[in-house]
Amino acid sequence: MRFIIVTGANKGIGYGIVKHLALDSKLPSKILLTSRDVKRGKDSLERVVSETKSNWHPDTSIEYHQLDITSESSVSDFSDFLSKQYGSQCIDILLNNAGYFDKKAALTGENVETTLNINFFGTYKFTEKMLPLMKPHSRIIIVSSAMGKTGNLPPKLRDLYNSPNLTFDDVISTQKEFIKYAYEGTCNENGYPTTQPYSFSKAGINAYTRFLASRVASDPRKIFVASCHPGHVRTDMGGSVAPISVDEGVKTPVFLANADWDEVYPNSGQFYDLCKVTNW
Ligand code: NDP
Repeated sequence: MRFIIVTGANKGIGYGIVKHLALDSKLPSKILLTSRDVKRGKDSLERVVSETKSNWHPDTSIEYHQLDITSESSVSDFSDFLSKQYGSQCIDILLNNAGYFDKKAALTGENVETTLNINFFGTYKFTEKMLPLMKPHSRIIIVSSAMGKTGNLPPKLRDLYNSPNLTFDDVISTQKEFIKYAYEGTCNENGYPTTQPYSFSKAGINAYTRFLASRVASDPRKIFVASCHPGHVRTDMGGSVAPISVDEGVKTPVFLANADWDEVYPNSGQFYDLCKVTNW
């Protein structure tokens, strides 16, 4: 029995991941569908159960819990709930899918702060909180984006994020600086993005993936960590003209959850696209 947590699972790719993890595995799973809004999450739970349960492994189940990855109290309540309900070291797969991209919004301080707080700070702090609860031979999978490849960053940040001397403190301080410069309206002169904050937030979480993987490489539990690109997917974020469906877009994250351990563990810390390691 695998215990799996999926964040931002009330719609889009997160919902598709829950559905396919219940449908596509030969192993029985207990899946926790989480969302920041309780009504939206419970409605989605009802939908996935009514539409697909007849095809699950007989011992698979999906349950619901509220989780806003940017809220300290929500993350703390969630962590207490897991420890009490399932005990220490209970998580087999943590699937960090929750994300945010308002394509129509201008690059304002508020938009940069909201985007970085969800995609970078929220995802990394939530993952740190879950770390003690990860089982031996468990997996942390982060749904990131090819837009976070360092080639999409302005030159100064691209060089820093590509540097072998990059530290995680550099990542934190540059993500914080971006918010500050966006509020000041000085992104251009400081060498920060001027069109949208999403790419840099995802570059930050890709970097975190690598730092986390090297940190846990000596952990006796053995924890696999990877980030991935789902493709350009038809969701509220991806838009109606995106080329691939949610069922196609979930293939890489679901592959990382279901693949044989020996196939993926040697690639811990890497970025995946189309179920294969690719450059970040
Ligand atoms: P959607 O906008 O359809 O769904 C995003 C999900 O994240 C929603 O469930 C949303 O909840 C949730 N969410 C946002 N903020 C929080 C938060 N603070 N705490 C918990 N949940 C939160 O996007 P997609 O399904 O398209 O995207 C899923 C992931 O895939 C994201 O990380 C995205 O960056 C990535 N991605 C998507 C691509 C695409 O083409 N669609 C391409 C590349 C990457 P709510 O409903 O309450 O807003």
